[in-house]
Order: sequence, then C-alpha cells, then structure tokens
Amino acid sequence: MNDRSESLTRWISRRIQPGQIVKYTGGGGDFIDDARMERLLHETGEPDKEQVKDIVAKSLAVETLSLKETALLLAVKDPDTRAELDRAALAVKKKVYDNRIVTFAPLYLGNYCVNDCLYCGFRTSHPGARRKVLSAEEIREEAGVLAGKIGHKRLIVVYGEHPQNDTEYMERSIKTIYGVKEKTRHGYGQIRRVNVNAPPLSIEDLIRLREVGIGTYQVFQETYHHSTYRRMHPSHTVKGDYQWRLYSMHRAFDAGVDDVGLGALFGLYDWRFEVLGLVAHSHELEARFGIGPHTISFPRLEPAANSAVTKNSPYRVNDEDFLRLITVIRLAVPYTGMIITARETPRIRSLSLDRGITQTDASTRIGIGGYSDATRTQDQDRQQFLLGDTRSLDELIREFAQRGLITSFCTAGYRCGRTGKCIMDLLRTGQEGKFCKLNAVLTFREWIDDFASEETQAAGERVLDAEIDEIRRMLPAVYPQFIEYYERIKNGERDLYF
Ligand code: SF4
Repeated sequence: MNDRSESLTRWISRRIQPGQIVKYTGGGGDFIDDARMERLLHETGEPDKEQVKDIVAKSLAVETLSLKETALLLAVKDPDTRAELDRAALAVKKKVYDNRIVTFAPLYLGNYCVNDCLYCGFRTSHPGARRKVLSAEEIREEAGVLAGKIGHKRLIVVYGEHPQNDTEYMERSIKTIYGVKEKTRHGYGQIRRVNVNAPPLSIEDLIRLREVGIGTYQVFQETYHHSTYRRMHPSHTVKGDYQWRLYSMHRAFDAGVDDVGLGALFGLYDWRFEVLGLVAHSHELEARFGIGPHTISFPRLEPAANSAVTKNSPYRVNDEDFLRLITVIRLAVPYTGMIITARETPRIRSLSLDRGITQTDASTRIGIGGYSDATRTQDQDRQQFLLGDTRSLDELIREFAQRGLITSFCTAGYRCGRTGKCIMDLLRTGQEGKFCKLNAVLTFREWIDDFASEETQAAGERVLDAEIDEIRRMLPAVYPQFIEYYERIKNGERDLYF
C-alpha cells in the first residue's frame, strides 16, 4: 500500500464514530421498524369518506399524521378521493406558506467519493468518472455567476465524501461563497444562505459548520428499507453503515444545527415504504428534539453512467405515483418545506406546484464548474445524473408569477434567529407568514430590479401590486415601515428585511 492509499484508508477508518450512534440507539435497533411499516402497507384497506375527512382535517390543522393515517392515504384508489387529496395538499401549502415559492441553485463542489453506491455515477469503482474539486478561485467564479448574473440568493452546496472535501474544505468554501459580492443592474448580488448537502458528520464537525453559518443541513437516507440499503451500499464503505447515516440529524441537533433536511431516493425500493420512512423519521425528530424536518426532498432514481441498478430497478416510480407521493408527504408532514428539483421535467414540476411544493431550483448546472463555463452542456461523466428541466431562473419565475405565485428570496430567518423550533412554531400557527410575506415582497423587488427580463418584470409587477395591496389591508401596523424599506430598495439599497 502506498502513502496515499494508506492515508486514505486511515481517513476512512476515522469517519464513523460508534459512540455517536450508540448515544441515540443505546446499542440496539433504530426507529425504522421495517416489519411494522410493511404490515401497515399490506394490511391497510382503502379508507372510507369519514376517515379521509378526519385525516385531511388534521393536516389542515398542521398536525403531523401518524404512520397509520399516512398508510390510509397511500391506500386510496378512488380517483375522486385522490383528486380531493390533491386539493387538500394545496390548501395545506397555502395555509402554511401562502403563495410563496423559494428558489435555489445546487452547486457541486467536487465529485471525489470514497463510497460505492450502486446507483451513482460518482462511485469510487466507476473508472470513467472525471474527478474534480473546485479551488477557491473557481468557487468564487461559480458563486459570482450565480449571485451576480442569475440572481440566486440561496445555494445548496454538495460535497462528496472524500478527504479533498473534508470539513476544513467545507468551512473554507462556505466562507468563500459568503464573501462574494457582485455588482448588478441597480445594486449588488450576494449568496445569503448556503444550505449544505453533505455526508454524515460527527457532532464536532457539525459545530464547525454551524459556526460558519450554514442554513439547512441535508442528508438523504436514500432508502429507509434496511436490506435494500445493505444491497445498495457495500458494507466495507463508510456509507454502508445505515445507522451512522440515519442518526446524522440527531447529531446535527446536538451540534446546534436545527434546520435539517430529510430525503429519500425514490426508486430503490417501494415508494410507499419510503414515504412511511420519511414520516417515521419526522416523528422521531419531533419526539426527541421538538422540531421536525425543515425540508423533505424526494429525488427519483435517474439513469447514471455505468450503473445497471438505475436502469433496471423494479421500483422506479412512474409519474402518477410520483405525484401521489408528493400529495401524501404534504398532508403527512404539513409544516415542512418540500423540494422538487430540475431532475424532473417542466410538466411534472408544474403539476407538483398544484400539490404543495415550496422550493425548487432553476438555471441548474450540476457538472462541476458548470455555471462559469457556459460552453459545458450536460456531461454524464462529470455529473451525477441528467437534468429534466434546464429552464433559467427568469423563465421559471415568469411561470410562477403568471400563476400568481411570488418567488421569495428571503433569507432573513436564520440570520435573525427564526430557525428550528422557533420557525416550526411560527409555521404551525400560521404566524410565519407575516414576516415571510413582507420579506418575500422586498426580496422579489430586488430581484426584479436587478435581473428580470422585460416579460418577467411585467408578470412580476402584477404579483407585487397584489401583495402590497394585501399587506396594506392585512398588516396596517407594519405597513409604514414596510413601504419605507420598499422605496429604499427601489432606490438601490439591498438586504433590508424584517
Ligand atoms: S451517492 Fe454520494 S456517497 Fe454514494 S457514491 Fe455517489 S457521491 Fe458517493
């Protein structure tokens, strides 16, 4: 073994800290009870009208559904009842998030990885993958395009599990991104919230990320089904440890990172089981920490280079079931943010909006260095999967505005302490809307002035007029200060928020 592979082996051997699993499990099993979840799925019959009515009432009261109630929704076959559930999902979204939608861009910082997940083009045993880690200068360039030319304010930065992407690299790259400030048409652009999609980390490493000011910390379990998890993630790899991954969010809370994002890769196992897994995970976090997931993601398995699993999986989720799972998750965990990404086609993204999606990406490039290199089109050896929707942020925002939705670039919450339990309580009681409505209008004004095309501006102004009118009527006490901020933003000031 040469020096390089010896140090890599040492690095890998130190990744998992058994004490930081036992802390939560007591050395026993975890909170995902496969047998019970399978029973619920196979033994739950179609609910009657009264049952559906009661469950929907609970969702509309922004209460998390039980696994049994979720299984009942999953068992609905009647087309009329399914349509009723779709309408209820949208009503829940409107109650909690009103007509706001949040946009972000993913930024892949490197594609080195020590793991060997069978469904991934970046896995260590894929010889064709071209590997790269962005330097500080390259990160500045990427963030400069995102903040200064496209107009994003939020990123999800994505790190592989590898010493080249270790915690020190994460800290440095996040600081670099926050340091970017680019001149725009009327003001300046900045990335104001860096969410992180990273491998499971120790409590100590998570404290370091908290200290550089991360937003949401995402770790997707991929599949909650234990034996499928074992099959997909070879046991000699770090990712082969199901519980180290499952308790990532527990460690995050213990590190003081209280906005966490759950997710499953739909298509590895029965999608209905994964929905129950996400709900069970939400219950566990609520019970232990008093806070559920800030967001839930549900990417679908996509064909990946050199991966037979992605092409032949018997569990690939068709469009109809995909839309159903969105509806059921929205009803089961009513307060959570729900993210759909550009993996999906414009048609599916549009339909998902009617079922309560709250966040989406736009102008997306997932090839490493793809934002600043405009010549680089989709490239399977340099990205994890191919995109289904390559529309620009401007195009997407125009569609939203034409549907009466306001795109919020608000990032005030975590910067003034409205995170974790505080934000959860505000969401559950509908009060978050007050801050969010004001900040959505202020940040949308900024974006329109700095980045919108003429056509998008026209659609955006109509939404802004309607929102301002509503604020004047519904929030008279804050209206004078709000309108003062609004005028200052029109005159080129930036980053004013409530
Ligand atoms: S899914 Fe993630 S951990 Fe697994 S091989 Fe791909 S990049 Fe690595």
